[in-house]
Amino acid sequence: MGQQYDYDLFTIGAGSGGVRASRVSAAHGARVAIAEEYRVGGTCVIRGCVPKKMLVYGAHFAEDLEDCQSFGWEIEGKRFHWQKLRDSVMSDVDRLEGLYGETLENHKVEIFRERAEITGPHEITLASGKVITAKYILIATGARPALLDFPGSEHAITSNEAFHLDELPKRVMIAGGGYIANEFAGIFNEFGSTVCLVNRGDQLLRQYDQALRDRLLQISLMKGINFHFNTTFKSITKNDDGSLHVELDGSPDIDVDCVMFATGRVPNTEGLGLENAGVEVGKKGEVVVDRFSKTNVDHIYAVGDVTDRVQLTPVAIREGQAFADSVFGKVEPYAVDHSCIASAVFSHPPIAAVGLTEGEARNSLGSIKVYQSDFRPMKNVVAGRNERSLIKMICDAEDERIVGIHMIAPEAAEMMQAAAVAVKAGLTKADFDATTAIHPTMAEELVLMR
Ligand code: NDP
Repeated sequence: MGQQYDYDLFTIGAGSGGVRASRVSAAHGARVAIAEEYRVGGTCVIRGCVPKKMLVYGAHFAEDLEDCQSFGWEIEGKRFHWQKLRDSVMSDVDRLEGLYGETLENHKVEIFRERAEITGPHEITLASGKVITAKYILIATGARPALLDFPGSEHAITSNEAFHLDELPKRVMIAGGGYIANEFAGIFNEFGSTVCLVNRGDQLLRQYDQALRDRLLQISLMKGINFHFNTTFKSITKNDDGSLHVELDGSPDIDVDCVMFATGRVPNTEGLGLENAGVEVGKKGEVVVDRFSKTNVDHIYAVGDVTDRVQLTPVAIREGQAFADSVFGKVEPYAVDHSCIASAVFSHPPIAAVGLTEGEARNSLGSIKVYQSDFRPMKNVVAGRNERSLIKMICDAEDERIVGIHMIAPEAAEMMQAAAVAVKAGLTKADFDATTAIHPTMAEELVLMR
């Protein structure tokens, strides 16, 4: 296969998509190399989903320690040590990075731990100056946090740095109203920081169902998180004591100890040399691909966040798998189905969803039926925690086919994964009703909805 080239496949970026594509291509018999300029594992493993989820677990103990008293437990002298949690998380990240590297090595994928640039249609030049040729090139360089630009914006951090903070900031301001903003607002708040969220519009998590977003806002306010809507940044200046003075447009000025940007992510395509191979790039800098993840150049593909399709790890993994099977496997080329993707926001409490929101369903189907369960979970009742959960099921009125399920509840993401199978399979409300409940659970609400 392609013996005139050094490799059959050269992958740039060892994140979720790049690693999956490389190891599966190698398993199909391809000679594969991969370049990574930072750490093997990419955003998800090194500074995204995985360490974030560990912080979410760590943060949630704050509520458990409070609630456990109603269940008879008495805990004296509880204290939180940020540095201890941070170091535990980072050591597990090191372990996972090692496993990712081992997986590649076990599949005989050669790893170059340096930056790579495309210098010709089939040519890659590494930072060390080594020139490599490959029959196929896969771009899997991911995305990075978008930075706002205003006087003093250099004083702000992003989620990348949040995992490594020396001290837990007493007062945190988060810019944005999306996934990262809401997840970290919950984390910092549970750790005891005073948190405010600054959003340019008046909507949080725009892509989620309105009722869930309203519920998250209400619960977040109850937990003490402050929100400044329709507000933008004018400047940040450093005070003598090292804290930050933030001048806002739309809200009064505020002094905080840390400002974190969570305002979306930008595809990593600068300095990649895409122009040297004639690869088309879109308005946001994303690599433009077809449904098979192929660019406008026949032998160059791209998967994951760099393509700015759906910026989620499991999607990047599927795209990497489909690429490897289609190009090096013995199957007909196939495309990843980007419809009906279940997702979750690990806020406190978490949100999870699959399919159409009520608004989207109304617009696209016209006539729909909405079933809803608004309840206080048993554990919250006993704990005296005034926090209600909400589960919504959206059906096509014509045949009662379920087109969307939305939840805000403890363990919503765990419940949603199973429910998503049913929605993806096109099941109806009657199919859910025919399923006996597991009692007592929160998930039983799914089969008992009126
Ligand atoms: P999101 O796209 O979720 O949210 C971005 C937020 O920033 C929105 O509130 C947006 O406002 C605001 N914003 C965008 N541009 C500007 C600007 N120039 N000035 C002020 N505000 C701005 O991005 P995140 O950074 O939170 O996360 C990035 C991506 O990473 C997510 O889209 C998601 O795909 C992925 N992710 C997934 C997670 C999960 O699965 N649990 C967790 C974390 C990240 P507006 O609404 O007005 O556009």
